[in-house]
Parts: sequence; structure tokens; C-alpha cells
Amino acid sequence: MGRVDGKIAIVTGGGNGIGRATALRLAAEGARVMLADLDAVAAAAVADEIGDTAASRGHDVRRPEDWAALMEDVLQRYGTLDILVNNAGILATESSQTLEDTDLAQWRAVNQVNAEGVFLGCKHGVAVMREYGGGAIVNLSSIAGLVATPHLIAYGASKGAVRQLTKSVAIDCARHGYNIRCNSVHPGFVDTDMGKHVLSLNNADVERNREARRKQIPLGIFGQAVDIANAILFLASDEARYVTGSELVVDGGNVAV
Ligand code: NAD
Repeated sequence: MGRVDGKIAIVTGGGNGIGRATALRLAAEGARVMLADLDAVAAAAVADEIGDTAASRGHDVRRPEDWAALMEDVLQRYGTLDILVNNAGILATESSQTLEDTDLAQWRAVNQVNAEGVFLGCKHGVAVMREYGGGAIVNLSSIAGLVATPHLIAYGASKGAVRQLTKSVAIDCARHGYNIRCNSVHPGFVDTDMGKHVLSLNNADVERNREARRKQIPLGIFGQAVDIANAILFLASDEARYVTGSELVVDGGNVAV
């Protein structure tokens, strides 16, 4: 029996990186998965890779109407929703963004996806889950939501918002007796397109930067998407039935030092 056998899951940003790895892990452990990604082609490719137990659709986490249509689609196909992974996120910069460099457009673009998108996901997810017996929401924050990121002002602030929002949603749901848990995951550096993007900011020498970063990680290795997916799987499963409002750091020990 799988760890999330028979459960119905949505993974935003499921076409790539951590979202893709999460969809694969959830499906391998018995869930049926809806991949919802701005990149509909990438999401469809992952759904094909998984097979009959997955579906996909184009989805923009910034658009309330997309959330309404996504929930309707999932309920029509599967009749319920048990797991929502609010994973989609962006950096939206080619250079380090200090306070001086960050303009309002940049701030808004990042926060619209990373913070507002998660807010909309929680709002629509809770509205459905509470009617169908409860569920588990996992929000992707970052170690950037825990410590200062003076070179990525908007990104760090958006991830701090996700951490805080997660706790408020968790407590709100608990107090209402909705049987909905909500937790945040805080990856350190992960070898995905976004991870590589961070290493290449300001036209940096990626390999040199990678080695310098690796040395800062106590475990001495970079995280892989599956390492984060395994943490998400735990929080999404009934194994975590007593875990809500918590923040799970998955960073090789980076912020513990
Ligand atoms: P990625 O860039 O590899 O993949 C992100 C996915 O999100 C893509 O498929 C993209 O199409 C999708 N997406 C972007 N904007 C969207 C939108 N508006 N609506 C729907 N989908 C959208 O990123 P990743 O490295 O897999 O990161 C996943 C999450 O983990 C993000 O929230 C990111 O901030 C967080 N995170 C990543 C790292 C890292 O080092 N990679 C570290 C900490 C936190």
C-alpha cells in the first residue's frame, strides 16, 4: 500500500523541478495527481510520464479564475481533493536585487506569483477541502523565508510571507475543525532550473559559484528535487496527521550554522 494511496493531489508548477519530482513521488505512492502549470506543455509531459493516474492543465496561480476552473476540473474528475502543493514560484531577475536595485514592478511581479499565488491556492483549496472531509496543504517557502536575503529582496520577502501565511491558515483551519493541515517546506539550494538560475545571477561563473556554495552546506552536497519531494510527501501523507503550522527545513544543515 502506498503512503498516499487513493488520495487526490494538485501540484502547482508541476511541469518542472521540485513540482515534477513531487508529482512523481505522490503518484508512486498511490495518489492521483493533477499537474497545474503555466507551462501547459511541460505539465502534460509529466502527466504522460506518470500515466493514467495523472492529468494536467495550464494554470496561472496569479489568476483567481484559473483557481476556480482548476477546482471544478478536479472535483469533476475525481470527486474530492486531499492534497494541495503550492509549489509554483519565480525569481524573476537576471541580476542580484538589492534594496536599491529592486523597483516596484519587480517586487510586485515576484510577490504576485510567490505570495499572492499561494494565498489564492490556500483560499480555493480550503474552500473545497472543508466540504470534502479535510486534507493537507503544503506550501513551498525557502530558507530565503527564514534568513536575510539582501541580494534578493523581493524573493526573500515573498517566501517570508508564505511561511507566515501557512501558520495562519493552519491555525484558522484547526480552530474551525476543518481537518485541514497546512505546513511550509523550506528548501536550501536545490539543483533545478531555478537553482542554476541563482548560481548564474550577474553573469557569475556558475561552476565557481556552485563550489563556493557547496562548501557552505554542512552536509557538503546540493539538494536534489527528490529530497524536497520526499519532505512534501511526508507532510501530505497521514503520517503527518499531528503536524500543522510547522516549517520543515530541507537544506543540508545550511541555516542551522
Ligand atoms: P523551477 O523554476 O524549476 O520550476 C517552477 C515551475 O513553476 C515551472 O514549471 C514554471 O512553469 C511554474 N510556474 C512559474 N510561474 C507560474 C505561475 N504563475 N503559475 C503556475 N506555474 C508557474 O523551480 P523549482 O526550483 O522547482 O522551485 C519550486 C519551488 O521551490 C518554488 O516556489 C521555489 O521558490 C522554491 N524553492 C526552490 C529552491 C531551489 O534552489 N530550486 C530553493 C528554495 C525554494
